[in-house]
Amino acid sequence: MGHDHALRTIWQIHGSDAHRMTVQLLEACEAHRLVPPNGSVALKPNLVLSSAPEEGAVTHPGVVSGCIEHFRNHGIHDVSVMESSWVGDNTLRALRRSGIEDVCKAYGVPFVDLKRDEAVAVRSSIGQLRVCRRALEADLLVDLPVLKGHCQTRMTCALKNLKGCIPDAEKRRYHSLGLTKPIAALGAVLKPGLVVVDSICGDLCFEEGGTPVRTNTMYACMDAVQADAYGRALMGLAPAEVPYIELAEQYGAGHASWSAEDLVFLNAPSDCADYAAPTGTVERLTRRVRQQNACSACFAALVRALYATGRGKEQDIYIGQGWRGCELDGLGVGACCRGASTNVPGCPPTADAIAKALT
Ligand code: SF4
Repeated sequence: MGHDHALRTIWQIHGSDAHRMTVQLLEACEAHRLVPPNGSVALKPNLVLSSAPEEGAVTHPGVVSGCIEHFRNHGIHDVSVMESSWVGDNTLRALRRSGIEDVCKAYGVPFVDLKRDEAVAVRSSIGQLRVCRRALEADLLVDLPVLKGHCQTRMTCALKNLKGCIPDAEKRRYHSLGLTKPIAALGAVLKPGLVVVDSICGDLCFEEGGTPVRTNTMYACMDAVQADAYGRALMGLAPAEVPYIELAEQYGAGHASWSAEDLVFLNAPSDCADYAAPTGTVERLTRRVRQQNACSACFAALVRALYATGRGKEQDIYIGQGWRGCELDGLGVGACCRGASTNVPGCPPTADAIAKALT
């Protein structure tokens, strides 16, 4: 694969074993080639608060161990993990609760609490920003966000995850500036060279978790803006609902466009059809959904679309491999339900595509 093509490619994989999926993604995109000789790698997970990964807020420890293993296997040993949790929480407590502390100990990899790091003033499109020195100085910054909802910015993924690389006082200032502009500007300052998105069970609506939706999906690319633009489609959100993505492109952080040609699937969603019965908010959203052996990625896309549009009560919605070859009266989601009177194609379709069919 040519260098320019690799820069636009999004590698996607389905499953629930974060470590194995991460190793496969990094092998596919040859992540080690992004590190200069004797260069350093900084892994930046999302440890926004003290929470278990199953709650939908923080990065699975297997994502971190998978990255470490990949770089080690390719002779790259200067690897560290760095993060600062949100204002009011203790990063080291979040590190322990997430399981990432155990990974660091097992591999002998240092963890840098960026709350204790020196802040450096850097110029950006919106004036001076203060950024943690260790994040700035890494030869390869690897952004490891969770794709999830957010009560203020609607979603959070690669760009907003970088907010963990700034001091707490600066985090408060970002909120006073309305988040959109500083998040976009910070993306252009830090410009991570690799993004590995944990969308195994990101939260439907909140940054702090509590309503996780099992999606069993991960993807990797080399552009944080593209990662967010694709993540926005997976969340079923319209561009105007998450304006910091296009603003980040204007500020030079990357490219907000993606197309089906950019996607490389390393396996099929049906390789991990371990759909579980919905509860709570998800159960309420899916009362008119008739599912038969739906893959997690497909079902999660539908849940996200129902949440984003507030629709779905008006018609029967069919989803899952059990409907293959059936004639269905209603909306059919995915290639398996192409026999429905209205069908959203794709395997899996994005929440964005389903949302358009619902509205
Ligand atoms: S279309 Fe069918 S096989 Fe494809 S993701 Fe959906 S349920 Fe799975």
